[in-house]
Amino acid sequence: MDKIVNFQSKLRKLVDNLWWTWHPEIIDLFRSLDPALWRDANHNPKAFLQGLSAGEIERKVHEMDLGGRINFASRRLQEMIDRGGTWGWDETGTLQNQPVAYFSAEFGIHESLPIYSGGLGVLAGDHLKTASDLGIPLIGIGLLYAHGYFMQRLDSSGWQEEEYGETDIDLLPLQRATDDRGEPIIITVDTQPRPLHAAVWRAQVGRASLLLLDADVEANDPEDRGLTTRLYGGDTAMRIRQEMILGFGGMAALEKLKISPGVLHLNEGHSAFAPLGWALSRMEQDGQSYEDAIRQSSIQTVFTTHTPVEAGHDRFTPELVWENLEWLATRMDLSPEQLLELGRVNPDDHREPFTMTVLALKLSRHANGVSALHGHVSRKMWHRLWPNRPEAEVPIGHITNGVHVLSWLAPTMYRLYERYIGKDWAARLGFRDAWEGLEHLPDDELWEAHQLLRHRLIEYTRRRLQSQAKLRSSSAADVQTLGNALDREALTIGFARRFATYKRATLMFDQAERLSSLLNAKNRPVQIILAGKAHPQDEGGKRLIQEIVELSKSKEFEGKIVFVEDYDIGVGRHLVQGVDVWLNNPMRPLEACGTSGQKVVLNGGLNCSILDGWWAEGFDGTNGFGIGDGRIHSDPEVQRERDANALFDVLEQQVVPLFYDRNEQGIPLLWVQRMKRAILTLAWRFSSNRMLMDYVQSGYLPAAGAVSSHMPAGDGV
Ligand SMILES: *Cc1c(COP(=O)(O)O)cnc(C)c1O
Repeated sequence: MDKIVNFQSKLRKLVDNLWWTWHPEIIDLFRSLDPALWRDANHNPKAFLQGLSAGEIERKVHEMDLGGRINFASRRLQEMIDRGGTWGWDETGTLQNQPVAYFSAEFGIHESLPIYSGGLGVLAGDHLKTASDLGIPLIGIGLLYAHGYFMQRLDSSGWQEEEYGETDIDLLPLQRATDDRGEPIIITVDTQPRPLHAAVWRAQVGRASLLLLDADVEANDPEDRGLTTRLYGGDTAMRIRQEMILGFGGMAALEKLKISPGVLHLNEGHSAFAPLGWALSRMEQDGQSYEDAIRQSSIQTVFTTHTPVEAGHDRFTPELVWENLEWLATRMDLSPEQLLELGRVNPDDHREPFTMTVLALKLSRHANGVSALHGHVSRKMWHRLWPNRPEAEVPIGHITNGVHVLSWLAPTMYRLYERYIGKDWAARLGFRDAWEGLEHLPDDELWEAHQLLRHRLIEYTRRRLQSQAKLRSSSAADVQTLGNALDREALTIGFARRFATYKRATLMFDQAERLSSLLNAKNRPVQIILAGKAHPQDEGGKRLIQEIVELSKSKEFEGKIVFVEDYDIGVGRHLVQGVDVWLNNPMRPLEACGTSGQKVVLNGGLNCSILDGWWAEGFDGTNGFGIGDGRIHSDPEVQRERDANALFDVLEQQVVPLFYDRNEQGIPLLWVQRMKRAILTLAWRFSSNRMLMDYVQSGYLPAAGAVSSHMPAGDGV
């Protein structure tokens, strides 16, 4: 009997800490336990485990001899929780007692926790995981969206339809956050026309915690209960109340939990009410003046702005703001104009809307963009807020985004790195020298591993295409044909991202003839896998998807251009691990950073990208391919044509010849050399370990008052 409790409870512990999301060996353990049930549970281990009784677990563990692996994983989890001696223990000083409170409207941790839509959320998830790995005291604060972001289905004409699943909270690895008497915490935001309430859930992400606020509680008016139902659903009236729950509610939750943060980090402007809530409690609880409270809160606030694209900046009408924030003005003793000024570039313009980014910039002394180029663009964009300074001295620096290596790295590559780079490579992967052992990795082994990963991606894509077709009730013959889509040995290009206009998913289709010759070349075939969701209100984006689907059915491109539906973290992981080339052709300089290409690097894929975002600083001529030369034409039409030409030039003249230039063993030696150059020069630098270390040193520690600020503000571009 002992043993039964033993394995079931050990598995529960493993499931309840999202640490498993970056330990594929644990996921493999679940799968081994019952492959069919694992598939049905949609890769959600908690749902999976609930489908098995204690007795069944005991029997299966015994039959498949999994006891040793479960014990090993459990021990490692416990060691991780207990262990000191990480980078953060030595380097985070005062933050040990006063953690960083990291606010984000979305967190992308795993496909089974649908509280993210795209890059911003995935970045936040990677940030949390890395804080755990490095031992940086950090607590995440976000919203629990019961229906998450939508699932994408295409109808038979290729038109996107949105489906919202209803998440069963009992099947997510969440616990209710409780106060010191063990009572579930409910927070209240004291607003008109009625107060807002939210429950607080806690997820464990390795050593880091994530608090998620949930407005679906009885105390709320029925209308407010729906506030956190959907991510980015609803109008601005809904949006401002969502953001009040995140900012004010998040601060209230910390207070109820008796967590006193040393630093607030606002991941994008959605959470900019948080420092305002902090200032309010300084006034009411510590008797500080308004000016002192605002000053002290902003000294301790770090703000990351994420996009130059207009739609990414929330703006609210003065009326809407006043309706929702009159209570705050009253308690802070501010006039309406004084309150509204906080979100305005020009305080004297009474019609100017209230912008969350402006509020965040005014309430943070440490602001940054997400790449060197984006820092430059942001200083230009917000120069109006500091009219008396030269543009180069606008106080917005940059910390370039990076990705959480162990979440995106294929296990096959992990094993190669461990073998040739060194056992402790994973612990030091944010440092350049940790990767130097890569020289010892034999070309043929790297190429063989990469081929294997491409083959797996193609198998995965075929299966997915077939199940999509079945859902659309396609004919059996059509479904069967899809099982032969794509060529295992062909140069495989991946393109997956949100279908935002500036990302220009259809740029390569501008020159259909050139595309056709490229893809249909006799001995040097090329194929393209695309994926991505358009925003539900973005008809233009949906038309682009439809265009692609139509082309993919044409005689010329059938089986060579495929569209994988419902892009999410799981689809993304498969794609970045198996492609030869990752294509990125945004309109410069609108891609603030871009992170999907960084995930590709780790797995040996090569980037072929416009010199925008991270690639503008990452590309050195030897570690991938650059499209164009970074010049920007004032006429977007001309720019588009120029970029399309440059794209085909580089594909025809560099990418394809290099990939198909093989030695007697069939290995493209120059290509493999480029893969190694990419890994060596880019992996550490665009890892989230490097990113977090930068945030600690030039954001968090200065904000906590431990050292003076040295956020890089020079343009470095
Ligand atoms: C990494 C990732 C993104 C970000 O991709 P970009 O290159 O920044 O567009 C978006 N969505 C998912 C699911 C991802 O994994």
